[in-house]
Amino acid sequence: MKLPDLCSFENIVIFTGAGMSAESGVPTYRGAGGIWSEYRYQEYACQQAFDLDPEKVWKFHELRRRMVHQCQPNAGHVLVAEMQASLEQISLITQNIDGLHQRAGSDSVTELHGSLWRVRCEQEKKVSDALDVNMPSLKCECGAWLRPDITWFGDSVDIFTMELATTLAAQCDMFISIGTSGVVFPAANLPIVAKNHGAFLIEINTEATEASHLHDLELRGKASDVLAKIWNSAC
Ligand code: NAD
Repeated sequence: MKLPDLCSFENIVIFTGAGMSAESGVPTYRGAGGIWSEYRYQEYACQQAFDLDPEKVWKFHELRRRMVHQCQPNAGHVLVAEMQASLEQISLITQNIDGLHQRAGSDSVTELHGSLWRVRCEQEKKVSDALDVNMPSLKCECGAWLRPDITWFGDSVDIFTMELATTLAAQCDMFISIGTSGVVFPAANLPIVAKNHGAFLIEINTEATEASHLHDLELRGKASDVLAKIWNSAC
């Protein structure tokens, strides 16, 4: 099959989900081995749980931070970074909170659901980096609990980040979904926005998803393998 040449598109959005990091050993959300089949999100990943028992919620997030820290960016992350460095028309939007795109060398990443590597103080409305695996303190200098700067169940996606992502999707002429099941909203609106604005949509996934029908080209396989084929046939 002839793959479209990335270099013939003016604005390309790469939109990644948990499947992008699956080859790094980070568990996906759904399915066997998915993190929420083991932990009930109501107890560990929502504001109510945090208000009830911040230490318990932090223990879980410290575990996730340690797990992700041990994972390495995979060949797919590296290819995305290489593609971004070579083609300035590529924008990267991720639903992942693992920071693996940045560790692979992507320096411009729109993180829709925040990052495990940032914390925020709700009291002071302040966000800070928390790159050390061992957090020096789980409390802010003002005395309030810090919380992970990620979108928990029931939280809204940061409005400015969502606006930026929507604008990028509306302006692109190629939209590539990688390793996302396409069922988590509002993120799942982005391919719809791109489609409504006339973009060509490619889906890279090991299996069909609820969003497959939106895409003009469905490429089945592991993210790193399919990306390598696309990149090898570019320009
Ligand atoms: P999801 O788990 O709902 O879907 C993952 C998709 O990836 C599936 O469609 C699966 O078929 C596909 N997939 C699995 N391995 C793949 C591979 N090697 N190559 C290509 N595709 C592969 O994930 P989602 O759509 O991102 O939604 C879940 C939400 O949970 C996200 O919004 C994210 O914030 C969060 N989450 C993040 C991480 C992370 O940061 N790595 C991990 C789990 C969940």
